[in-house]
Amino acid sequence: MHTNVLAGAQRWHTQQKPKRVTVIGAGVAGLVAAHELERLGHSVQVLESRLAVGGRVRTHGFAGRANGPLAELGAMRIPASHNRTMQWIDLLGLSDRVRQFRTLFSDDASFLETPAGHQRVRDASPVLVEEFRKGLPPGTSYREETVLCAAWLTASVNAVAPGTFRQSLHADLNTELLDLLDGIDVRPFIVSGSAERIDLNRFFANNAGFAARSRLQHFFDDIITETSSALFRLEGGMDQIARRLAERLRGPIHRGRKVVGLHVRDDGVVVEVQRGLATVASHCDYVLCTAPFSVLRRMRLSGFDDDKTATVHDMQYWPATKIAVHCREAFWERDGISGGGSFSGGLVRQTYYPPVESDPRLGAALLASYTIGPDADALGQVHPDKRARVVLEELSAIHPELSQPGMVLDVVTQAWGEDPSSMGAAAVRWSKDATTSEEERALAAKAQGTLFFAGEHCSSYPAWIEGAIESGLAAAQEIHACSPLARPVRASGYRRMPGGAA
Ligand SMILES: Cc1cc2nc3c(=O)[nH]c(=O)nc-3n(C[C@H](O)[C@H](O)[C@H](O)COP(=O)(O)OP(=O)(O)OC[C@H]3O[C@@H](n4cnc5c(N)ncnc54)[C@H](O)[C@@H]3O)c2cc1C
Repeated sequence: MHTNVLAGAQRWHTQQKPKRVTVIGAGVAGLVAAHELERLGHSVQVLESRLAVGGRVRTHGFAGRANGPLAELGAMRIPASHNRTMQWIDLLGLSDRVRQFRTLFSDDASFLETPAGHQRVRDASPVLVEEFRKGLPPGTSYREETVLCAAWLTASVNAVAPGTFRQSLHADLNTELLDLLDGIDVRPFIVSGSAERIDLNRFFANNAGFAARSRLQHFFDDIITETSSALFRLEGGMDQIARRLAERLRGPIHRGRKVVGLHVRDDGVVVEVQRGLATVASHCDYVLCTAPFSVLRRMRLSGFDDDKTATVHDMQYWPATKIAVHCREAFWERDGISGGGSFSGGLVRQTYYPPVESDPRLGAALLASYTIGPDADALGQVHPDKRARVVLEELSAIHPELSQPGMVLDVVTQAWGEDPSSMGAAAVRWSKDATTSEEERALAAKAQGTLFFAGEHCSSYPAWIEGAIESGLAAAQEIHACSPLARPVRASGYRRMPGGAA
């Protein structure tokens, strides 16, 4: 693939002048696009509002980044099926750092909140089945294994879905989906143990039609991905992807440059950048905006068509909040938990136990809480100190070690819904059908004059790094292919800078 693209680029290069492109945002979409544009012969500068690159790929190092335990505050896992992400990891020389990511319920000793209190995953089936039966309409009768499967599906929905979705899925599960499930032989997916349970991932992989019949197919797709055993992570931190990309760029990355206005003109784009208390406007030929629409809609915008304006303003973003704790030691290992995640319930929702890969004397990182949607707002909208206190108190019910003096060395919290550089965790299309999702994607990615767009929200993999890469590559190709700007006489009043708005 690379050789062909390169040959194409060389042919083009002999015919046309390179373009000067200003990329807004040094997240994965912006960095991949910048990388690709340079490879195609163009010159690029990147404007990034933060001082660090990576955007929503953000790794926090406790006890000093070089040696201490790491916590992933943004993206933490890569599904094996995300080919572009895996290819870029390879291209960036990071293949030797790929490790298996252990997910929720992958360890039988992890915990699961049930109506009868917290249970070890290996012991939870009887309670889950009993509770599920209680919720069935009177007079209905289903096979034992159907109820077992539905009970575990409900448990996964509880663990993964935010509040509003949980209710809607429960209603579906107790009616039409249960009838559908009863028509499938689920026995091959039963995992034996102290109590039998269902391997949902294998069940979904073999019964694609089941998810497809639900109006929440996109959500089921994500459940399948999130509970898969074919997930990877990067030893040394996911942010290595962004840092390696940044190191390989020839053009400058201007950090601390917050774009506050974008104005589409016939001869390019006027970009307004905040510099201290002042705003500097400059004219750029080609601009690629990768800032999320939740941020873009707070900027001064002009020259956008009506459809685009509506898409920028209406795109739905969901928040996510993560709270990571630096512990004196990986106490959970003494409790028999070797990794993976618990569904802790309450405000905490999900808890993950990352492996200890740094010097154990420097302690261990625990991802105490991961929430999305309204659950994330409930934590995100309170003061960070209170956020941390509430989570630690709640989690102490299943991990009393957290209350021991000296066990908690540090806490870091990240509320993506409140972060000015993202104002949300991701564009989620769970409740939209395939046609509506594709229409929204196409409108999000649609250029306005020479203002182009990329980012997970412009892709067919929203909320994943894969989507950021897909959209970054597509936008780079679109800019590469577009006709060079004619050069009309420019309206005065703006500075022209080489390449644009730095
Ligand atoms: C909590 C969480 C968990 C996730 N888990 C996973 C996971 O496990 N696996 C996975 O594949 N994906 C995951 N994702 C999604 C993944 O992180 C994103 O899809 C991807 O990183 C988005 O990249 P992007 O370049 O589109 O956007 P961003 O990373 O948001 O990049 C946009 C950049 O623009 C900058 N910017 C914003 N506003 C301005 C401005 N006004 N001026 C200049 N610069 C600006 C931002 O600072 C940022 O650097 C997760 C995301 C979150 C938040």
